[in-house]
Amino acid sequence: PLATLADPSLLKTAGLIDGEWIEAGSRFAVHDPATGRELAQVANLGAVDCAAAIAAAERAWAPWRAKTAKERGAVLMRWFALLHQHADDLARLMTAEQGKPLAEARGEVTYGASFIEWFAEEARRVYGETIPTTDGNKRYLVIRQPVGVCAAITPWNFPIAMITRKVAPALAAGCPVIVKPAEQTPLSALAVAELAQRAGMPAGVFNVLPADAENSIEIGKVLCTSDVVRHLSFTGSTEVGRILMKQCASTVKKLSLELGGNAPFIVFDDADLDSAVEGALVSKYRNAGQTCVCANRLYAQAGIHDAFVEKLAARARQIAVGNGFEPGVQLGPLIDEPAMAKVEAHVADALAQGARLVTGGERVGERFFAPTVLAGVTPEMRCSKEETFGPIAPVIKFETEAEAIELANATEFGLASYFYSRDIGRIWRVSEALEYGMVGVNTGLISTAEVPFGGVKQSGLGREGARQGIDDYLETKYVCLGDI
Ligand code: ADP
Repeated sequence: PLATLADPSLLKTAGLIDGEWIEAGSRFAVHDPATGRELAQVANLGAVDCAAAIAAAERAWAPWRAKTAKERGAVLMRWFALLHQHADDLARLMTAEQGKPLAEARGEVTYGASFIEWFAEEARRVYGETIPTTDGNKRYLVIRQPVGVCAAITPWNFPIAMITRKVAPALAAGCPVIVKPAEQTPLSALAVAELAQRAGMPAGVFNVLPADAENSIEIGKVLCTSDVVRHLSFTGSTEVGRILMKQCASTVKKLSLELGGNAPFIVFDDADLDSAVEGALVSKYRNAGQTCVCANRLYAQAGIHDAFVEKLAARARQIAVGNGFEPGVQLGPLIDEPAMAKVEAHVADALAQGARLVTGGERVGERFFAPTVLAGVTPEMRCSKEETFGPIAPVIKFETEAEAIELANATEFGLASYFYSRDIGRIWRVSEALEYGMVGVNTGLISTAEVPFGGVKQSGLGREGARQGIDDYLETKYVCLGDI
């Protein structure tokens, strides 16, 4: 699939440190999840390379910070334009290594690029403040300054957007960044890095360290325990988030964590049923169910439950499953065999405990899983408690609003939540009662660069995107002027 890139030089297989493409002693293979075929061999960087990247970023910090926000924003805007210019190639690279349908990949390039544009603009609005004095001889000022060298460890499910959402605010604020992309999807990250080079990013300001699973752990340790690295941003599993948090304790590092979700999707009796079904479809089956904001558990109120299940299943059966490069395909492969095994285990567990299979429930070929709807699901089943990360829609029947809220909140996660209702009182009540960082009301799609994305409880720390998204990359400094 990569033979047809309009600009073959976007296929990079080396790491980027201090503005130089760096080879490594060993390489690791990147595979196409739709076919299992090898796409490329990528440099497997390690702890020594990571130390070199940290040193390069440290050297790059002073001159980058010294530029005006407008100057940094200009570099970012050139980068943004290049992502758009090369969107088709970036989408092809993404579909090849990640599997999502080409149209979805194209959408992610636009979404990923939008964070660069947004933070290029936000850089100029990093306002300080003056505080009314309580002492005639003194004046109180507050300024905001870049935190320093930042690190980002990113997942495979959004190979570009999860990088730009972290890197753009850091760069805009004046911080150099070191990125360790997911081992499944380094090609998208490296292509984006090549475009950063073309945009005129100074050496050392943006570094990318591709690595296999084993070396990723070593690189993670070096980043977490480095005194020079002042902030770590991570998107991935809660389990790895806990490890990184522990490791960062040694240097009391600032952390932004975007971890697992277990999103409830509640449909009340007063909902517009067709709209709820469409919302459930996009929230559930986008990226084959492999997003941290995908509806994980669907709650349908008794009055509309049967109709909802029937309509959802009817629409799920229409979804075209296949290789993301084939025209019309809406649902691609799962990322790898462990992902497939988890989905199968969740379905088997639900059926063993008495759930009813309405549609799907099995593999389509070796690497795809049919869009699935399960009814008669209970809170005890694994698919209710754990993030499935696959195209499974488990539906649970409920009676009252209070019951739905209690069920929805009964989890250690708190990222996205959704509900459908046309009653304005209920919309307020339920929005306030859901213990989640994000609530979608009468919509299954909530992400955009302008809004604060993030979770409560064990879903993470901090917010990405929006004006809040740059806060984590800034320190607040209080200056007291005396002897006035
Ligand atoms: P997923 O389950 O989505 O693959 P992970 O949390 O395992 O999510 O991985 C997300 C990112 O974290 C990837 O870039 C991966 O290489 C990296 N990673 C996984 N384990 C560690 C670790 N112990 N230290 C540092 N990075 C890690």
